[in-house]
Amino acid sequence: MIIDGKAIAAKVRAEVAQAVKEIEARAGVTPGLALIRVGSDPASEVYVRGKVKACQETGMGGFEHILPETTPEEDLLALVRELNVNPHVHGVLVQLPLPKHISSEEVLDALAPQKDVDGFGPHNAGALFTGRQGLRPCTPLGIMRLLDESQTRLLGARALVVGRSNIVGKPVAMLLLERHATVTLAHSRTADLAAEVGAADVLVAAVGKAEMIRGAWVKPGATVIDVGINRNAAGKLVGDVEFPPAAERARAITPVPGGVGPMTIAYLLSNTIQAAKAQLGLT
Ligand code: NDP
Repeated sequence: MIIDGKAIAAKVRAEVAQAVKEIEARAGVTPGLALIRVGSDPASEVYVRGKVKACQETGMGGFEHILPETTPEEDLLALVRELNVNPHVHGVLVQLPLPKHISSEEVLDALAPQKDVDGFGPHNAGALFTGRQGLRPCTPLGIMRLLDESQTRLLGARALVVGRSNIVGKPVAMLLLERHATVTLAHSRTADLAAEVGAADVLVAAVGKAEMIRGAWVKPGATVIDVGINRNAAGKLVGDVEFPPAAERARAITPVPGGVGPMTIAYLLSNTIQAAKAQLGLT
């Protein structure tokens, strides 16, 4: 089974559009997401534009704040504090990376936890780690939805996450643990990655190296979620997993592109709905 992230993301967006209408009807308020971009990193420009467009398509407010590269940290912190108390804004996203003179930790610390729709701040990261309610990071939520939509059994399954970043690897490992998988977290110092992959019923690859996980390592019948977005030597967009041989062995696998990618924005919108409901006292 090829897991169709585009179709599943469209389903999530339709759920969000429906929720926007319900919130408007019940509270007379349109959920809103503020997006802050500092500087002119071309990839960030594309990402933020895509996020604003996605907001508009679901009927949600999307407010873009573009600041110059030279913006002092204090000015960015002042904007974050202003948005923290702005009643039209239920979610705030600061597009990373930030210019070098700004500490992303300071900025994430300043963000109100109930509006931290990326779930990267210390409050929400701690809530995930301790199993408390909070906003979970978007890509990991998208991955969990892909696993559910592909009827992947998690309870008691051996799950291997390759990559231990704060935005993908670590949080997705926690979400898998919450669902009672037996979780292994691999990284650049893992001794025998091929053996770890070979034992995994569920494989989540979040490394950022073109096709570094060989298809022949994949356990027959496994579910493979490929988070990586890389260009191979021929300039083609590929994942972290060598797709054709992996697809022969896996029960279900995500393609790149069209797998995890579309889920991230869909869950950013979904998190904004969750945040708006909590702030408006709706259940
Ligand atoms: P990071 O660069 O932050 O982390 C990469 C991780 O991979 C690190 O933990 C690193 O280990 C590990 N790693 C590096 N080399 C190896 C190796 N040879 N064997 C095993 N592990 C290794 O990446 P991100 O988590 O931010 O992103 C990972 C990929 O996912 C990227 O391609 C990115 O573009 C993509 N991505 C896609 C998203 C989407 O929406 N589809 C969203 C976010 C990311 P160590 O810690 O030891 O250095």
